[in-house]
Amino acid sequence: MTATLPNIIDLTLKELQQAMSLLGEPSFRATQVHQWLFSHSASSFDDMTTLSLALRKKLSVTYSIHHAEVIDQLESLEDNSDNPTKKILLKLPDNETVESVLIASSGRRTACVSSQVGCPFQCHFCATGTMGFRRNLSAGEITGQLYALNEMVAAKEPGATITNIVFMGMGEPLLNSDNVIEAILTLSSRNYSFCLSQKKITISTVGVIPEIQRLGKSGMKTKLAVSLHTADQQKRESLMPLAARQYPLNELSKSLAEYTALTGTPVTIVYMLLRGINDSLDDAKQLVRFSRSFLCKINLIDYNSIINIRFNPVYDATRELFQRYLFDSGLHVTIRKSYGTTINAACGQLATTRYADPQ
Ligand code: SF4
Repeated sequence: MTATLPNIIDLTLKELQQAMSLLGEPSFRATQVHQWLFSHSASSFDDMTTLSLALRKKLSVTYSIHHAEVIDQLESLEDNSDNPTKKILLKLPDNETVESVLIASSGRRTACVSSQVGCPFQCHFCATGTMGFRRNLSAGEITGQLYALNEMVAAKEPGATITNIVFMGMGEPLLNSDNVIEAILTLSSRNYSFCLSQKKITISTVGVIPEIQRLGKSGMKTKLAVSLHTADQQKRESLMPLAARQYPLNELSKSLAEYTALTGTPVTIVYMLLRGINDSLDDAKQLVRFSRSFLCKINLIDYNSIINIRFNPVYDATRELFQRYLFDSGLHVTIRKSYGTTINAACGQLATTRYADPQ
């Protein structure tokens, strides 16, 4: 019977407040329930001992509790350290699956989390894009990925926690902004057992302009990364047609200028070098022109091979020339190492097939 009840994990705090009101309960009960679910990972209403027995009973006949379940884990072999990159596969209550990644490097423990099952943008170089779009994750499902990864960190090193979160997993976070923001508010709240400064959380987007504008005005302290990959509109339309046509570069540039003016925070421009496609001196010049109108730093990343997708990583010498040109043009530029390539956990490699439940 409980399987047919709505999953309370999927309710936002506001929806929980409305639910409490319908049950004739004061609104602070919603906060208590939310904390039981997300601070204590309660899996039964009986665990919620600060609630009256009567309320626990009412909740248990109205809702079910189904947290996402870790069904597989992989560790990267190529990282020569005690802390290999780890990828987890989470099964959601409707049997959809998402992947999340834990990257430990330079004293940081970074959680890379997903925001959607699949992605509607279908960029040509991205494994997630090949899945098509299944659905948005709820705020609770997003938060659940973080808690699962945090448990892995604490199991290996008692007392240690995730130090950074990046929304660079499966999906376009700004197509699911409400739930992403709700999850971030929970993950950065002092009222919960896990609390991380919003400044340590990065939202990555292909450039969903209205949501960038909304973020800029929201007062959120999160960082923004934009997956640009080329500053040439035509090339961008060939690499990521849906996103590039909907959000053209000239408008994207204006929205980033507005964003950085409002927040005073630089945007990270992520540029994946693809051999023979976006790695020429002309490409570098276009990138410099694009990046001049707002505060930014450039992250160059290598293409990570994906089965059935035919792009090639750039040659070392080409990457160095490209980086040198950007640097000499006054841009702040870094080369970001990809972690977890052997387990398909690096940028653009996350994808799942539907989990077939033997039951
Ligand atoms: S690169 Fe990002 S926006 Fe494009 S298909 Fe992949 S997940 Fe979606």
